[in-house]
Amino acid sequence: MARQRKALSLISGGLDSMLATRVIMDQGIHVEGVNFFTGFCVEGHTHAIRKKDKAKPKRNNALWVAETLGIKLHIVDVIDEYKDVVINPKHGYGSNLNPCLDCKCFMVRKAHEWIQEHDFDFIITGEVIGQRPMSQRRDTMPVIQRESGAEDRLLRPLCAKNLPETLPEREGWLQRENLFDFSGRGRKPQIALARSLGIEDYAQPAGGCCFLTDEAYSVKLDDLWRSRGTRDYELDDIMLLKVGRHLRPRPHFKLIVGREEGENNFLEGYRKQFTHLRTLSHPGPLVLVDGEIDADDLHLTARIAARYSKGRDAASVEVEIVPQGGEPQRLLVPPLAGDDMPDNWLL
Ligand code: SF4
Repeated sequence: MARQRKALSLISGGLDSMLATRVIMDQGIHVEGVNFFTGFCVEGHTHAIRKKDKAKPKRNNALWVAETLGIKLHIVDVIDEYKDVVINPKHGYGSNLNPCLDCKCFMVRKAHEWIQEHDFDFIITGEVIGQRPMSQRRDTMPVIQRESGAEDRLLRPLCAKNLPETLPEREGWLQRENLFDFSGRGRKPQIALARSLGIEDYAQPAGGCCFLTDEAYSVKLDDLWRSRGTRDYELDDIMLLKVGRHLRPRPHFKLIVGREEGENNFLEGYRKQFTHLRTLSHPGPLVLVDGEIDADDLHLTARIAARYSKGRDAASVEVEIVPQGGEPQRLLVPPLAGDDMPDNWLL
């Protein structure tokens, strides 16, 4: 009897990888999914923090896709290894700090290592030629195959007919005629295919699958690197960049100001690692201070905290300051006026 062939599918949580997986499952291949956790992923839990995002489903889309398709999903933590991809991308960045081509090569390389360890036969992705300007182009498709080491064990079911035959097609493990020839940025073929497969619910495609494609996020990451004089980060750093208003009033310190209750609650978890402030006389945000500050800076910081409180129009606001590892102190300060707050403080 012919051996049951096995494929590992890179599941982002979006429609393309969902369709690619389903198309291969329908050809009798055993498929399992993998999702790499880089720390930059746009996760359901970040939607859960803010009230304005309350309408979005609070789910991890990769897990949801796997459950919907009835396949096993392996979530692999690559936080440390991924740093080199973000910090030193050989192929550079896209329009923001998104190193998409290096990222794809990295993820397919990790998937290739995985299939070798687990005796799987090939890898599938939801890539479509021309779908993304940086990583999904005709000329980048072979780059990913080559640099990942996966070579012709990498199959893109949605655009396979526009590409040279891969091992699973040549070996007859599946039928090339049942694969697709999608290309370009349009979504109509994917939506039509989803409908024909009875798939009605799927995550709406956004700008990308991670925060690195987001301009505001990239500005904050770049600021973090500049202010520290080194292009490095820890997981907490990149999680905090997703939350709050970030202001840099002086080169040597930054403030993270909760914008609403959900963010204040999230920032509470980081209180002990930072000097922090909150307003006592009026409701206001939790403010974390990232950097070393002196007495003058403290006064300025208290005035900024007061400005973002309900007491912004009051003559004075009482602010509690808790230095990291120190005793709390209280200051009565006038809120900072808008004219005294240059636009370039806000990252
Ligand atoms: S959007 Fe993010 S996760 Fe997706 S390929 Fe680009 S860098 Fe990688």
